Amino acid sequence: MTEQKWIDHTYDVVVVGAGGSGLRAALGAAQAGLKTACVTKVFPTRSHTVAAQGGISASLGNMGEDDWRWHMFDTVKGSDWLGDQDAIEYLCREAPAAVYELEHWGVPFSRTEEGKIYQRAFGGMTKEYGEGGPVQRTCAAADRTGHAMLHTLYGQSVRNDTEFFIEYFALDLIMDEDGTCRGITAWKLDDGTLHRFRAQTVILATGGYGRAYFSCTSAHTCTGDGNAMVLRAGLPLQDMEFVQFHPTGIYGSGCLITEGARGEGGYLTNSEGERFMERYAPSAKDLASRDVVSRAMTMEIREGRGVGPDKDHIHLHLDHLDPAILDKRLPGISESARIFAGVDVTKEPIPVLPTVHYNMGGIPTNFHGEVVTRKGDDPDAVVPGLMAVGEAACVSVHGANRLGSNSLIDLVVFGRAAGNRVGDQLTAGAPQKELTTADGQNSLDRLNKYRNSSGSTSTAALRLQMQRGMQSNCAVFRTGEVLVEGAETVKQAFADMNDIGVTDRTMIWNTDLMETLELDNLLSQAAVTVNGAVAREESRGAHAREDFPDRDDDKWMKHTLAWCDEAGNVTLNERPVHSYTMTDDIDYIKPKARVY
Ligand SMILES: Cc1cc2nc3c(=O)[nH]c(=O)nc-3n(C[C@H](O)[C@H](O)[C@H](O)COP(=O)(O)OP(=O)(O)OC[C@H]3O[C@@H](n4cnc5c(N)ncnc54)[C@H](O)[C@@H]3O)c2cc1C
Repeated sequence: MTEQKWIDHTYDVVVVGAGGSGLRAALGAAQAGLKTACVTKVFPTRSHTVAAQGGISASLGNMGEDDWRWHMFDTVKGSDWLGDQDAIEYLCREAPAAVYELEHWGVPFSRTEEGKIYQRAFGGMTKEYGEGGPVQRTCAAADRTGHAMLHTLYGQSVRNDTEFFIEYFALDLIMDEDGTCRGITAWKLDDGTLHRFRAQTVILATGGYGRAYFSCTSAHTCTGDGNAMVLRAGLPLQDMEFVQFHPTGIYGSGCLITEGARGEGGYLTNSEGERFMERYAPSAKDLASRDVVSRAMTMEIREGRGVGPDKDHIHLHLDHLDPAILDKRLPGISESARIFAGVDVTKEPIPVLPTVHYNMGGIPTNFHGEVVTRKGDDPDAVVPGLMAVGEAACVSVHGANRLGSNSLIDLVVFGRAAGNRVGDQLTAGAPQKELTTADGQNSLDRLNKYRNSSGSTSTAALRLQMQRGMQSNCAVFRTGEVLVEGAETVKQAFADMNDIGVTDRTMIWNTDLMETLELDNLLSQAAVTVNGAVAREESRGAHAREDFPDRDDDKWMKHTLAWCDEAGNVTLNERPVHSYTMTDDIDYIKPKARVY
């Protein structure tokens, strides 16, 4: 390809990402009469949301009494008081309406005898502000809830005239000198053409970056491209040091066994056959929140009570449950256990290990989905023209640790909020500033640099180096020394990017180049993750420092903001946690020790 030309498009709203959050936001924007494009690197129904198993939380109260305030309490406690309480109130209050909306659009939820939406128990979800024992709050379509949601949302988006640009790889944000976002650049994978999408508002819904780690439950596509686009635009990411390990990834493959398995009565044992969670979390036991269970499992393994020849994993038992229930409620994971662990769940335990699962951190936003940054004394300055939703965003409702089933609800509640916001604020067809030849040049330069690179390091080798570094140096337990070493590994990987070699020089289905761009994206996120973890000298939620074992609210009840330059140098700042609620219907939930 000798000459590279842009193909230009103009929309009112461009959504990048077609997972649950992107589709819900696009749908809302289109319903508001705005000309809406949804740009996605994979076919919409292949987005990682399709893999969500266990369910979506909402205090419907179909299986016993429930209250959105209890849900709010649990979420604040789960977040280890790092979540913003105004946003958490919004999430929990809006959750039931968001689930009924999905039901009316056609999500085939499992049903109770009376025909109501079936709800199961999930970790950290309780009654009466933690005093009344577990509550069944997680709405489920068997163990394929994300699949059901994503297909329904895609159908509804098509019905509402969202225009899809499928297998377009978004490269960068187009930013004005005054810091307003004007659109995005993208590369069409199947024919090699290059595109600029101009928009009044860009909504990033690009998901998490689990692939910065060696073992994770998320899809290979989860490379946090939107997060990296934000960093390259000179904007910060928030709370990136908080990475959730799911207690039950299948040993070896990392495939997820949903927490719903424990919600239906499953339990963990060590090599002595002991139900060890009774020691670590006497009341919630196997349904304590994820960080607590993952740490307990890691302790058992470290103290020599792991199972298997190398004593390096744990057993999850479902073999005491009625096979009919397993077949009805957990058919997908029964199949995964057979395929990936060679286990018949009705007879044997599943070998499991804590595995990277979710990124609490991401692009800082307010509860409308508008991206915010620190400008001088204003920690909540809105970035004009830019919004973010879903796992890519940090609203922050999950704070230092997300409760299971609180992500799917986050996708639709804040996807809907973003759709409402653009509907309220934008005028369909309003004139937009023309783009100049300079707009997008940075994307072209970066693309061509890698396309023509001829160094001796392969993308796969460098990616592995980064992933192993993150896995061993920024995991369930952390110390300053180990983290600093991790930061150095990532820094080295940045330097090694200069010696990368891409063998395919074409523009059409050049997966080598695409993976290199994704690696470049992952690296900046690895850098802010590990450097944020070095700086945060306390233990909170998923961030457990052995050298600082206690939560330190005086010094650290604040959000980390992190910027990253081209060489991988990270700059840190902070934003205050919103310690106020949205209405008088509930008071600020005061910090206390987090025990389960
Ligand atoms: C195995 C598994 C099970 C889970 N189970 C549950 C559960 O039961 N309950 C729960 O609440 N949560 C669950 N989670 C978490 C939850 O599913 C995710 O956090 C959520 O689905 C993320 O949705 P999203 O819309 O943010 O992004 P995703 O669904 O990850 O979609 C990202 C989208 O962005 C697009 N994209 C990314 N980069 C680019 C680019 N450069 N150019 C163009 N497009 C791009 C992709 O094409 C895709 O459409 C689970 C997660 C996993 C991994």
